[in-house]
Parts: sequence; structure tokens; C-alpha cells
Amino acid sequence: MTITVASGKGGAGKTSVAVSLALAAGQAVYVDCDVEEPNGALLLHPHLEWEEEATLPLPLVDEEKCDYCKTCSQACQFHAIMVLPHKVVVFDRLCHGCGTCSYVCPQKAISETTRSIGLIQGGRREDIVYLAGRLNIGEPMAPPLIRQVKARIPREAPLVVIDAPAGVACPFVETLRGSDFCLVVAESTPFGFHDYLLVEELLLDLDLPFGVVENKAGLGDDRLRRHLFEREISLLFTLPYNGDWARAYSLGVPLVEVEPSLSEGFLELLATLETAHERRGS
Ligand code: SF4
Ligand code: SF4
Repeated sequence: MTITVASGKGGAGKTSVAVSLALAAGQAVYVDCDVEEPNGALLLHPHLEWEEEATLPLPLVDEEKCDYCKTCSQACQFHAIMVLPHKVVVFDRLCHGCGTCSYVCPQKAISETTRSIGLIQGGRREDIVYLAGRLNIGEPMAPPLIRQVKARIPREAPLVVIDAPAGVACPFVETLRGSDFCLVVAESTPFGFHDYLLVEELLLDLDLPFGVVENKAGLGDDRLRRHLFEREISLLFTLPYNGDWARAYSLGVPLVEVEPSLSEGFLELLATLETAHERRGS
């Protein structure tokens, strides 16, 4: 079963919940797809075993062969290649490495090189496999890196917990692909609720089963609960605001270690999700 842990905004507690779910399960693959700021390792403390560069194909134009016909620039849906009267310019940050330009070039003037977009890291903490992507600073191509990270998830893994990027942009949608369930961590504050609604709208559009973990309960009001009740959306778990937990988080101590009794709650949550998943599959 693949569970993606999401939140509409940063700081809602998504990584805390994702890491604690994996730790409570004891045997899981934890995947940090929050590639712009992967910080799951700061809580999980895995032993890093390998690291690979993630790359994307990049067109390389041989201007000896090129006759500046513009077929490539007309075919590129990302406006990543521009043909000037005597020069072809490739905008590498816009290029998705799709290969269309080299495919359509009548002169066979385009070959491929690669460019680095980030790193993929792998490791382990006891029976928890750790995978993470780390996007190069300033690099906009998060979705291809997320795809490459997810391609490393062992096929036989019984439980995969994916820590998603905050927000509802392309990296989040790419992260959700192939997930069985989305656990949305939300705060019942004006900002937290607004950003939760964006995630909810997207998940409803995608028709992906989801439920909510209310974090820092007691810090805001009851607008999240009222909304979930009215929309008949499952509030699966509630974590009260606790200053000691917040301090422990800042020191890199996961929730289930600062408050071991929470493990039981996370295990019950997992059991609920697994039962619902089996029912949907039957
Ligand atoms: S399609 Fe090929 S020949 Fe035409 S402008 Fe592009 S690189 Fe040059
Ligand atoms: S590889 Fe794809 S995205 Fe990149 S320049 Fe060519 S057509 Fe455009």
C-alpha cells in the first residue's frame, strides 16, 4: 500500500506524520519526495548507503548540419528551443528532455547530452528503507526528479510512505501518481484551512481516496472539523498542539520517540487505511 502524506502548506507537520507512520510500522519504505527541501532524514536519521546524480536529457545541436528550419522550435511545447537566423539556443531550465526536437529534426542535427537536476539518496534505518530526492538549488524540474526517486521504490514493499512536497503544483501531482491513499495533514487556522481546501479540491478532482490528520489541534479554531463533518470527509487522527513536541521536532526527535504512546495511534491509523484499501481492492 502506498500512502502519500501531504499538506497544503509547509510547517503543517507532514514530515513528522510521515516519519512517525514509518517508524510505527517498523517495516516500510519512507520516500522523501519533498525534493526542494527534503528534511525527512533530519527526523528519521537513516544510515545513507548510496547517492546518485539525477539527470535529464538535453538536446545538443550540431550547427554544421542545421539549416535553421525551425522545425524543432515549432515542435517544442515547452518553448525551450529557439532558432535565430544563425543560431539555435536551448533554454536548459525550460527543457523537459522529451526528445521531440531531435525526433523531428529533418537534418538529424540534434543529439543528446545530459544535465544534472539533483541527487537521489538511499539508505536504511533498521527495517525502514529510506529514499530521497534533492533538487539542485534553483532547478525548476522537480517532477522528473520525483519520478526517478519513485522508480527506486522496491516493488515488493508492503508499505510505502511518501512525504509529498507542500502545495498543489506539478511536483505534488507527480508525487501522488500511483498512490493508494493521501493523508492530508492540516491545521485549523485561517491559513492552514485555506491551503487544506486547495489540496482537498485537487484530490477530489483526481478521485483519490483521502483523509485528514489535524495537527496542532487547539491552536486554532474548529473550522476544519466543521468542514470535514459537513463534507463527510474522514478526520482520521488528531494531534494536539504540544510545545514539547515542537521543541523535540526542532532537535530532530520524531513524534513517536518524544511521545511513544502515539505509536499505537499511528498503528491504528495504518490498520484503518489497510482495511479500507483491501475493501476497495475486493
Ligand atoms: S529542426 Fe534541426 S535543422 Fe531545423 S532548426 Fe532545428 S536543429 Fe536546425
Ligand atoms: S527535448 Fe523536448 S523540451 Fe527539450 S527542447 Fe527538445 S522538444 Fe523542447
